[in-house]
Amino acid sequence: MSNVNALLNRLKPTRTISGVVPIAIMVEPVACPFNCTYCPGGKKTNTPKSYLPDSPVVLRATPLNYDPYRQVVARIRQYEALHHPVSKVELIVMGGTVTSLPESYLTWFVGNAFKAINDYPLVGSGSIESPDIEYEHRRNEKARIRVVALELETRPDFARPRHIDLMLRLGFTRVEVGVQSIYDDVLRRVRRGHGVKEVIEATQYLKDAAYKVCYHIMPGLPAQRLIGTSRWLRPYSVTQASCPTA
Ligand code: SF4
Repeated sequence: MSNVNALLNRLKPTRTISGVVPIAIMVEPVACPFNCTYCPGGKKTNTPKSYLPDSPVVLRATPLNYDPYRQVVARIRQYEALHHPVSKVELIVMGGTVTSLPESYLTWFVGNAFKAINDYPLVGSGSIESPDIEYEHRRNEKARIRVVALELETRPDFARPRHIDLMLRLGFTRVEVGVQSIYDDVLRRVRRGHGVKEVIEATQYLKDAAYKVCYHIMPGLPAQRLIGTSRWLRPYSVTQASCPTA
């Protein structure tokens, strides 16, 4: 009966019913090296590229100055306030082309996110300058809250072997690849800056490194609409087959 009561008290129980709690955190707004025609956000709105100021994760990250430590602590506290048990975490790093960010920044960001999880509930006031990421990875093996998945989002041409080496070092386990369309003409029209060849290569590189790979697809792109429904539905069914969480 106590289990039933706990479930009834929990808001949005499906969010954590698998036992894994998703914690999405956002990198700070910096310029993306690309300029896809449909992409919102960026310097104009002081948000990471591809996110609007009213996106939930932006609303949570902005008052915390995009500090990874504080974002993680605040999110765990929110879940606990809503009666969600937090013991296994899927950490999701959002913010456009994450692997285009400097290696030193990403190492700092992920290291502090891990440190926050390991410190919880005896937390500090925020991120420290030089977290030891290898130490925090080892520490997490025995922490009260364990990171069971670490995900980022990026473009296919930023999932090359040198990016994958960094992802492996930082402990990433899953990559959401911004495929958007599997048609070169559509990608050209939205000034995506890469083609289908790069999607195929990125998928191969990531799979060779034993990564879980998700495709992000945009069926509503203007150029795609001209092509017709049947043509964009085909890549969607491919996506469903390739995404472990779909
Ligand atoms: S690569 Fe991604 S973040 Fe950058 S402009 Fe294109 S859609 Fe936006």
